[in-house]
Amino acid sequence: MEVIVGKYAGFCGGVKLAVQKTDEAVTKNENVYCLGEVVHNKQVIESLEAKGLKIVYDIKDVPNGSKMIIRAHGESEKIYETAHEKNIEIIDTTCGNVKVIHNKVKKASSDSFIIVIGEKGHPEVLGTLGFAGENSYVVESEDDILDAYMEFENTGLSKVYVVAQTTFSSSAFDILEKEIYTNFIEADVVVDKTICNSTEIRQKECEEISKEVDYMIVVGGKNSANTRKLVDISNKNCDSVFFIQTVSDLNKEAFDYTKKVGIMAGASTPENIIKEIVDFFM
Ligand code: SF4
Repeated sequence: MEVIVGKYAGFCGGVKLAVQKTDEAVTKNENVYCLGEVVHNKQVIESLEAKGLKIVYDIKDVPNGSKMIIRAHGESEKIYETAHEKNIEIIDTTCGNVKVIHNKVKKASSDSFIIVIGEKGHPEVLGTLGFAGENSYVVESEDDILDAYMEFENTGLSKVYVVAQTTFSSSAFDILEKEIYTNFIEADVVVDKTICNSTEIRQKECEEISKEVDYMIVVGGKNSANTRKLVDISNKNCDSVFFIQTVSDLNKEAFDYTKKVGIMAGASTPENIIKEIVDFFM
């Protein structure tokens, strides 16, 4: 059986650094809190929790004077202010690419309406909105564009600045960009496609591999948006796609007559889990 493993499968640079910094923090300190899961991967989270990491979902649950990790997704400006008020020491693992978006939207928000193309409620999008201020809107699908335009009209602004959630699908972004230009015809629209390169490269590689294999294995957390996107891409090109979290989700007999298997993993999947899956087919 031939096994093709994506070169870009697994942790992206931002997530790798966030996990490393979190691991260092819990190894050296007590009372380290994290706002949400540092990475959407059950095994990594369990290992960090075993070392003492406490995951909470609201800063009000972080005691005064403790240490708090900000994830690679980033947080809104308000969280930094609240942490300061509560004398919480921030261990900031916000990815550099996300920080650049925060700075850009903050600057543009002085004279522009901000559109974030991304998933409503996604932590990174919420963080970016926190820097964009009140005159901002999330566009997730074409259905949102008219509402975004109505919001924009109410602001009295003439400029629109568009950014993307770093892990948003590149092709879906391109469709929405066109629609925004069509609907905001009288506005001065600047589009900044802030999709992270590593996401695009991974998605492209996933597309290529899934076109040439009998079975496509996509590895990652069930709540990982970028992994689910890899599953969607694979489903378009391959009839047999397995969305799994670990090697224990696989059954050897299912692959008895298989000639070619592809393996791709989301940005939050650690190397050891990918290796176990590769070994399963060897
Ligand atoms: S996907 Fe890109 S932007 Fe997001 S954490 Fe990874 S490296 Fe950073």
